[in-house]
Amino acid sequence: MSDLKDSLLSQKEAFDAALSKVTDSAAAEQLRVAFLGKKGSLTQVLRGMGQLSAEERPLVGKVANEVRSHMEEILSARISEIKELEKSHKLKREVIDVTIPSSYEGAGARHPLNMAINEICDIFLGLGYSIGEGPEVEYDKYNFELLRIPEGHPSRDTQDTFYITDNILLRTQTSGLQIRTMEKQKPPLKVICPGKVYRSDALDSTHSPVFHQIEGLVVDKGVTMGDLVGSLQLFAKKLFGENTKIRLRPHHFPFTEPSVEVDLTCWSCGGKGCRVCKGEGWIEVLGAGMVHPEVLENCGIDSEVYSGFAFGIGVERTAMGRYGIDDIRLLYENDVRFLKQFK
Ligand SMILES: [Zn+2]
Repeated sequence: MSDLKDSLLSQKEAFDAALSKVTDSAAAEQLRVAFLGKKGSLTQVLRGMGQLSAEERPLVGKVANEVRSHMEEILSARISEIKELEKSHKLKREVIDVTIPSSYEGAGARHPLNMAINEICDIFLGLGYSIGEGPEVEYDKYNFELLRIPEGHPSRDTQDTFYITDNILLRTQTSGLQIRTMEKQKPPLKVICPGKVYRSDALDSTHSPVFHQIEGLVVDKGVTMGDLVGSLQLFAKKLFGENTKIRLRPHHFPFTEPSVEVDLTCWSCGGKGCRVCKGEGWIEVLGAGMVHPEVLENCGIDSEVYSGFAFGIGVERTAMGRYGIDDIRLLYENDVRFLKQFK
């Protein structure tokens, strides 16, 4: 009898020692199974009670009950403690400090290039133009050949680009859209085509291998150079203010004849001469001209009946002028500190 009683008491000691090391719910459950489970060590000891005599059984039984309820009680007390601890750790982990400054950057805004594109397109939409689009990956014939820039033409040197194959390339100008538009639609035509163009230029403060142009095209009966000048004059005044003047300088583009480069009075000094216009009082913003009769004929338009003008506006240059940006690279760096000035 005393053997059984001793082993009950040593079970109790072992249990107390093990419990003091329990620090989480999983370990508490393991301990319960090890002592009080069906195959637990206390259960094994109690199985031995069957061999006790009738007088011994109640005495040992009393000790056994005490040991078992002691184990159950302190285990359940420990489990409650652990649960409380686990809960408070969880609360500490998930605490939200409402006094920490927010990392919210605020709503985004349009990029200055898109703002300039939208502004320019709005002006021409108001003048009755529609908006056209074309592919950035273009056939040689639309980018060069049908615009009277055949293989070996010197103007290909100044517009070196990225070739996909021998006759597919990243477009160097939006002028290919003149051809695509005239192939699809017949005059009268009045379209404006904004988009990205590519040149294999190194990036510096005024050049980028990718930039934006807006191409304009008008074809109808009796369109003259006077219409071109009038339209550009109106555009310049709407974009840069009533006092803006334009100046035409003779130039050469293979796809227009005559061709001109168009300067606007400096938006910074109004024509007096300053740092922005390098003392000139004028800034070159676009190229234009009367569509070459051969280009019209290339697209199946009778150049005896129809005439037209085309122009290409440099979006970067316009945006830089409009918003006082002095380095083209700022437009592509995606620096939020820079971009958020243009909200
Ligand atoms: Zn100036």
